[in-house]
Amino acid sequence: VKQEGRGGLRFFESSMNTQLHARLQLEQELIGAIERDELLLHYQPLVNGITGEVETFEALIRWQHPQRGLVPPAEFIPLAEETGLIDAIGRWVIETACRDAAGWEQPWRVSVNVSPSQFHHSDICGIVATALRVNQLDPARVVVEVTEGVLIDDATKAVATLNRLRDLGIRIALDDFGTGYSSLSYLQLFRFDKFKIDKSFVRRLGQSEDALTLTRTIVNLGHNLGLHVTAEGVETQAQLEILQALGCDQIQGYLVARPAPMGSFMELDRARTVA
Ligand code: C2E
Ligand code: CA
Ligand code: CA
Ligand code: CA
Repeated sequence: VKQEGRGGLRFFESSMNTQLHARLQLEQELIGAIERDELLLHYQPLVNGITGEVETFEALIRWQHPQRGLVPPAEFIPLAEETGLIDAIGRWVIETACRDAAGWEQPWRVSVNVSPSQFHHSDICGIVATALRVNQLDPARVVVEVTEGVLIDDATKAVATLNRLRDLGIRIALDDFGTGYSSLSYLQLFRFDKFKIDKSFVRRLGQSEDALTLTRTIVNLGHNLGLHVTAEGVETQAQLEILQALGCDQIQGYLVARPAPMGSFMELDRARTVA
């Protein structure tokens, strides 16, 4: 028994070491990824819930790794947050998304994700203000998506930052609404422009009466507060029809389009204009 225990422990230690090693390696590789031009943005359209017209494109980061291929954000954004690399990466995202949007043929909005640590540690207002000025981009075309996590640490400071961002003329969306653990009281601290209903609710629409009730409640809560409501992760026609019946303002998901390089949407748009 003793030996087994020791063997088990040794195995555990070595697998910890392997994990730690993989993490350190990934971290080393992420340093300089911007300079090596390995980061890129995919975009996913958000369409009007009634007309189906494209209104916004959400920027979603990817890492084109020379050996690992296209790495999704779930595999490096948490690491970037822990190591502080998120400040440089987040700045790159805002600068790139604003430059991209300024060059689009249509005045679509661009929506960028800002993580809590980036929100608290970098000069987010300065970065956004500069990106708007440099690209001569109308602030009304920019949306910043934050989660309720930004309000957890230092709510007073977070609200001040949100208000300064709002004063630039951009919009603020509350992402992943309903998935956090805080009470609704933070909604009294700051009036968001938009809720984004997380895909974990949308996925169960049509299967679960509870998911329907929760989604209806979120849409109504948003509307009663005077906000717009977007549903993310819409994959089926049935989900779309339920969301339309609930009066959801915007739809985002694989049913409409998967995230992709912006070029593919530009071609689509040109083809439609010509046809
Ligand atoms: P999110 O902001 O909640 O973004 C939505 C995620 O759902 C995206 O995953 C998107 O590709 C995916 N998605 C969209 N439609 C569907 C659908 O119909 N079905 C399913 N199953 N999934 C769908 P992605 O691109 O892997 O991004 C994951 C998360 O990484 C994002 O979640 C966001 O929290 C974070 N992230 C992405 N880009 C950035 C960034 O530039 N900065 C920061 N800080 N975080 C980012
Ligand atoms: Ca988002
Ligand atoms: Ca989400
Ligand atoms: Ca998120």
